[in-house]
Amino acid sequence: MPRIERFPLALLPVAVFTGLSLFILGCTPPNPETEPPAPAEPQEPSATGEAAAQEPPAAEADSGATGKYSPVKARARDFYAPNSEDLGPDEMRLIACGTGMPTARPKQAASCWLLELGNGDKFIFDVGTGSAERIAALQIPYNYLDKVFLSHLHTDHFGDLDALFVGGALSGRQKPLRVWGPSGATPERGTKYALDHLRKALTWDLDGRQGLTDPRGYHLDVTEFDYMGVNEIVYEENGVTIRTIPAIHALDGPVSFIVEWNGFKFVFGGDTYPNKWYAKYAKEADLAIHECFVAVPDMIEKFKFTPQGALAVGTQFHTASEAFGKVMSIIKPRMAVAYHFFKDFDTTAAINDRIRTTYDGPLSLSIDYMVWNITKDDIRVRMAIVDEDVWPPPATDKPQLPDPSKRIPYSDMISNGRLDMKKVLQPTYDAINKQYGTHETQE
Ligand SMILES: [Zn+2]
Ligand SMILES: [Zn+2]
Repeated sequence: MPRIERFPLALLPVAVFTGLSLFILGCTPPNPETEPPAPAEPQEPSATGEAAAQEPPAAEADSGATGKYSPVKARARDFYAPNSEDLGPDEMRLIACGTGMPTARPKQAASCWLLELGNGDKFIFDVGTGSAERIAALQIPYNYLDKVFLSHLHTDHFGDLDALFVGGALSGRQKPLRVWGPSGATPERGTKYALDHLRKALTWDLDGRQGLTDPRGYHLDVTEFDYMGVNEIVYEENGVTIRTIPAIHALDGPVSFIVEWNGFKFVFGGDTYPNKWYAKYAKEADLAIHECFVAVPDMIEKFKFTPQGALAVGTQFHTASEAFGKVMSIIKPRMAVAYHFFKDFDTTAAINDRIRTTYDGPLSLSIDYMVWNITKDDIRVRMAIVDEDVWPPPATDKPQLPDPSKRIPYSDMISNGRLDMKKVLQPTYDAINKQYGTHETQE
């Protein structure tokens, strides 16, 4: 049975009935006035994602059966610290790197999901605006972050591809960025056209880096597949199969992805009106993500839509909360994940209540940095706590030195505008040459 925030499933109906559902089902923090403190858990999970450690940590033992807690000794915490846990061979981990909207906000980047498998593979589904910094916060070497699957070409689903492409290469991706995305009703509406032109838009950026950095990461390897494919395979490597089904959203073109590996099924819906393909092929997924748009009243009050516009966008162009619940009642996943709404203290209740009119199964109302560890008999939901002061993680391969002859020179006019800084800079050259045994000279 899925484990939801450590709350006994048997108590779920009671909790829903008594109005505690936001915490339990929405994975929001407990209300200290109504919730007893959760028992401290051992920090290191085992390979299967189960809480490990036969013997409790010292701090646990210290708390003892008497219920006394030391005022100075640490207690185990229940959050995910990136790169602090091994992933078991039969385990998947999903991290929300963007759960929001096309309208930017600090709290929620736009759609982006990192799926990590126990075989070492990692896949990024969507890379919406603002999500590249969430990915960076996880401190995963970029050579492992070379596979991106785009559900469609709205900027809230691929708007940070440029940041992942260029910034990822600078941060240690020493290979091309592989991108899969759907065709469109015309060639100009397809992924290949979009990314060919993105590459062209970056001409100045990429030309200026020639001869200065490891060149291997500055290539896009684009695979465009037929958006009309129904459960057709678009990726099959290393025991992982990814299929697509059409989605209904804005124009022809959007798709949903279905990942199968090691007996697990993960579904990422992208954006879509409820559709028959998702209802059929997402059935009984271990984890199913589907959009669940901002509640119509909030679209009017907070987004300043007209009632007509809010109904059209919030219920027809996207999936409303009640309809999300209906879809999940049909497919019955081990864990349903709702996204694509601004999750605030004054919006979450409405989303949850509307979903609960049509669905009573396991549910996560997602927010950025929510983490799901999925094994055959457990789904553990936590929040990641990340360090904001991150630098590029270690590269996994030796850097390839750039070829200075590849640099494109300034024109004489621009070059001749340089002030003479030789004396100012020489001590830095001397110090670096001495420390690293190099023989660099100023231009
Ligand atoms: Zn969209
Ligand atoms: Zn969207």
